[in-house]
Amino acid sequence: MAGQLLEGKTVALKIKEQIKKEAAELKTKFGIQPKLVSVQLGENSASEIYIKSQEKTARDLGIDYELKKLDASVTQDEFIKAIELLNKDKSAHGIIVQMPLPQHIDAKLISRYISPLKDIEAVHPQNMGEIVFGKAKILPCTAAACMELLNSVPSIELYGKEAVIVGHSEIVGKPLALLLLDKFVTTTVCHIATGQRGTLPEFVKKAEILIVAVGKAGLVKGDWVKPGAIVIDVGINRVEGKIVGDVEFDKALEKAAYITPVPGGVGPLTVTILMRNVLEAFKQQQ
Ligand code: NAP
Repeated sequence: MAGQLLEGKTVALKIKEQIKKEAAELKTKFGIQPKLVSVQLGENSASEIYIKSQEKTARDLGIDYELKKLDASVTQDEFIKAIELLNKDKSAHGIIVQMPLPQHIDAKLISRYISPLKDIEAVHPQNMGEIVFGKAKILPCTAAACMELLNSVPSIELYGKEAVIVGHSEIVGKPLALLLLDKFVTTTVCHIATGQRGTLPEFVKKAEILIVAVGKAGLVKGDWVKPGAIVIDVGINRVEGKIVGDVEFDKALEKAAYITPVPGGVGPLTVTILMRNVLEAFKQQQ
């Protein structure tokens, strides 16, 4: 029997309703509208799509949105100064730096300069550290989106389950491993060396929960998927003009109990979580 689709849109709709209601309540209570400031350095067609989607989602939910465009030629010091000004600006409650940044800017260094109170992507080391302690109020958006999708599976009991995450990036794989551990999920993280050693299929075949965040179309073969598994495909790849994930979808659908489509799975939820983080940041600052 084919698996069921885990659609991000459906889960996002419910969270959006809560955000809209809360944004209106906060505006009434404090007399100011929560505001997200997005900083873009230079022009980039890939980030334009994200910026448009962020702006539309923010405005639909009652969150103010400002795009601060800086010239691609600004130096790292000038960029840091611009971030520090935003940290002091009481009308800016959440700050997001659009990626990719030009080569001469060190993204990891920049993340240290965003005030942890306004760091709505949880890229500041302090916010990342809070995840280790299980105390984070602002979570990395994509990792949190995966958790929301898992929690949306009817009657799922995460306690004691076996999960495999493929990909160990700082924004997805690593924080997600900590979030799953917090729920007592036995979690294995695979990465490039697992792929090179040739043992990726062995790990994937054992996964009751499989989350793939690599960015390589068809990396995970459908017949590796454990029957009845929950599969969350984070990958976004453009193949022959179509957007596909990292998992061989049609074959995986035949084996999984639940699987996210790409597009329409994790993506719509990620931007929703970003907005939820703006409200959380706003509340922390009041
Ligand atoms: P990333 O920083 O490039 O990380 C990719 C990870 O995959 C790395 O840990 C890499 O390991 C690992 N990897 C590479 N080849 C592998 C292989 N053959 N076997 C096992 N692991 C391998 O990417 P990211 O930012 O996490 O994003 C991953 C994918 O998710 C991309 O397609 C991105 O577009 C997508 N994404 C989607 C959303 C969404 O909202 N839907 C949000 C964020 C990202 P090494 O570092 O050791 O090479």
